[in-house]
This record gives sequence, C-alpha cells and structure tokens, in this order.
Amino acid sequence: MNYVITPTPQPGVAVAGSHDKFPVHRIYCVGRNYAAHAREMGIDPSNSSPIFFSKPADAIVPATSAKPVNVPYPPQSHDFQHEIELVVAIGRGGRDIPCSAALDYVWGYTVGLDMTRRDLQTEARKRGEPWDTAKAFDHSAPIGLLHPASRIGHPVSGAIWLDVNGERRQEADLEQLIWSVPDIIHHLSRYFELAPGDLVYTGTPSGVGPVKRGDHLSGGIDDLGEINVKII
Ligand code: MN
Repeated sequence: MNYVITPTPQPGVAVAGSHDKFPVHRIYCVGRNYAAHAREMGIDPSNSSPIFFSKPADAIVPATSAKPVNVPYPPQSHDFQHEIELVVAIGRGGRDIPCSAALDYVWGYTVGLDMTRRDLQTEARKRGEPWDTAKAFDHSAPIGLLHPASRIGHPVSGAIWLDVNGERRQEADLEQLIWSVPDIIHHLSRYFELAPGDLVYTGTPSGVGPVKRGDHLSGGIDDLGEINVKII
C-alpha cells in the first residue's frame, strides 16, 4: 500500500536530557483557568466550569533552545497575543478518568504559549461563533522541552512567568490554577477519549497582551525550563 500523497511528518516534542521525542496526537486547551485572567477577559470566574478548545497537533513550534525560535505574525489579525501556560503530556489513554487516578495518565510537563488572535476571539465570542480561527492556526503553540513526571514529579506550585523584550508581562503561581491537572483530566476525559500523545495547555494567568514583529518572548515555569520566541 502506498499513500497517494506524502503523509505529513509526525509532530513531536523533544524530551529533556535525551534524544527522544514525544509524538503529539491532539492538543487540547483549557480556557479561563486563573481567576485574574478570567476577570481581565470580562468573565466572572466563580460561575464557570472548565471550557475546552483545541489546536491541530502540527501547530506546535519547538522552542527549546536559548536562541529564540521564529514565530510568524499570523494573517487576518491586528491583535496577536501571548498566553504562557503549563502543558501536560498524556502518556496513557482513557475516558471518564476519576480525579483520584488522573495523574497516572500523565507522562510529563512542559511550558508552552497559547498564541491567540485576540481580535478574532473577541468577535467570535460576541457572535457565539467557534474559536478556531482565533486559536487553532499555524504556529500557534510554541512549546518547550518535555520533562518526564518520573523524573520531576507532578508540579502543583511554582512560578510561571512571561517577559516581552525583558519586561515582565505575566507572573503567577501554578497553585492559582482554578482547575488542577487532575480536575482537567477528569473533565476533559468525559468529553473526549484521551490518547497517548495528547497535550493539554492548562490556561494562562493574567497579563496577556499584544505582541508585534521583532518582539522577543521569554517565559518559563520553575523546574520546567524556559521558552524563547521571536515574532517575525
Ligand atoms: Mn490559553
């Protein structure tokens, strides 16, 4: 059997301290998972349940070196924004996963950027339309080196931050997540059958804002390293 056209390459995330890669199956994202960010988006954080959206697997941009990796300013937007996030890598598939068992499904953790065409998201929200054009576009998911849970454990606290051109824009602690990693896996697995290779971007703290061509984005999470991106 031959494919009638050449299959696209399998997207993968480099694993820290090895030459191995984690093959990406799907990318799920959580919206409004820090109260201060929900408020800055004009949403009451107290009456929400987790909301999910997704990005294509090939939206990832490996951004694992100290040298910034290029991310193109996307078309059809004049308000391209950064969202620094903890990313969970799923190593074992399942559905209807209870919170108490959820961490058994986690392979590792890293830091990522949920890049967003905020103008398109705001318009979509007003009209009750889908978020795909705002969230699921090419190069919209820069991602750092993946750290196995077998080595670093399961972070529940630690600083998360993002600088633009050396100026701090986002700063919070993972313990401020409204929905913890087990909560997220539990809720997500009621809607979708999780598979090995899935990534979950867990939501961003407050301080999101626009970037422009030439900006250098540098962010990180304690114990998970840094991510470096240049907007071109
Ligand atoms: Mn986000």
